[in-house]
Amino acid sequence: MRKTKKNKTVNTITLIILLIILYFAYEFYQSNNFNSFVKSESKLYVAKFERDNEIKYSKHRSYKITTQEYEDAMFLKKVAVKKNTPYKVSCMVKTNNVESEKQNTGIGAQIAIVGTTERSTAIQNTNDWQKLELIFNSKDREYVEVAFRLGGYLGNAKGEVWFSDIEMEEGIAEENNEWKFACFIFENTDVNINQKQIKLNVTQRDIDDIVNTIGRFEKSCKELSKQKMTAKCDVYRIEEPITTLSYDQEFGYYVAPEDVEQQIKSTIEGKDYDHIFIVVRLGDEQHENDIQINDWIGLGYMDYYGMGYSNIRLPNDAQSYVYRYNSRINLFPEEVFLHEFLHSLERTSKEYGYEIPALHDYEAYGYKYEALIGEKRWYTDYMNSDILNQGTSQRIGLPEKVYTLKPAKKSDFKYNYKIDEFKQPENIIEVIKELINNVIGKVKYIL
Ligand SMILES: [Zn+2]
Repeated sequence: MRKTKKNKTVNTITLIILLIILYFAYEFYQSNNFNSFVKSESKLYVAKFERDNEIKYSKHRSYKITTQEYEDAMFLKKVAVKKNTPYKVSCMVKTNNVESEKQNTGIGAQIAIVGTTERSTAIQNTNDWQKLELIFNSKDREYVEVAFRLGGYLGNAKGEVWFSDIEMEEGIAEENNEWKFACFIFENTDVNINQKQIKLNVTQRDIDDIVNTIGRFEKSCKELSKQKMTAKCDVYRIEEPITTLSYDQEFGYYVAPEDVEQQIKSTIEGKDYDHIFIVVRLGDEQHENDIQINDWIGLGYMDYYGMGYSNIRLPNDAQSYVYRYNSRINLFPEEVFLHEFLHSLERTSKEYGYEIPALHDYEAYGYKYEALIGEKRWYTDYMNSDILNQGTSQRIGLPEKVYTLKPAKKSDFKYNYKIDEFKQPENIIEVIKELINNVIGKVKYIL
């Protein structure tokens, strides 16, 4: 009898120990379980990735990244997407002491597509829970890697960040050819370059020229494309100066989206623009070479949250006719605007998988820069796919479809198609399923 009792006691103790081990194993699993996300960082084993049960937004543990050193840390998932479809990824985010290594509004806690410039806004400093959204179009892709990130493609960050309630939605692309442009005229530039403070401003003549030229640009888009598109431009004058510039080896100084985000963000919010022009002065007679510009007057091929983004530089010479119509000097002052916008259509065509001639290759196809009208003939044929390819005798240029391939925007998500991609396991059976999937996934990965 005594023997059996002792055995029972032993069994009970064993069972309790086993349960405690199981509990800790489960706890360990839960605080480290990143479901099917893959962890990735620019410096190995610097960041701590954990599931936090104390600081969380909903009943599920939040996903937490902590790093005390500046780096780019993320957890990501490869997601299958349909081609030419808008998507929205959203989550809740909370930050504590998030600091960026360099001054740049694009670095911080964010949602991003790995290997691209597609990202949500970036959160720095200490903030309570707020919503983050990344809207993008899949274009020609079948997969994208969606990352929840501390840092970003623009640079490193450190601090603590919690992500929660991750969701993905599929939208319907608005397929019309009516383009909406936001044109920002920055009236003041006040930057420090090589320890020298440089203050510049635009004149009333500049503003009058630009406003006229923008009106001409609207008409030219329609006429030169032979009604394949329309353009509507809203002009905004911004008094708050540009205080930072970005630098590029090839082009010298220019205005990157991050340099003006603070000044233009609230104006753009909710307006569903397709393209943004930044009009800026970066020199004048007194500051001829203080800001190094490697011979550019317009710069394009950039994007601001998926919208096309270009710089239009006012000439240093106050008497210039670059942006002024004059029947004897310049019949095509909207050329720089059109050229930079066409760079965005060129980029979009390529991203959707079309093969088209490069916008700069006009001479290769027998076109010339002409007095009074510049490259107007080339742009017309480029926009109408009417450039003769001598080799094949085919007509080439922008595909007509490109005029309807506009940036993904909020209004593409009127109907809610939620995708299960980021769904969390809700009960024990789903937890076990997820666990098995993860183990199989890891085994496959190892094999
Ligand atoms: Zn160009």
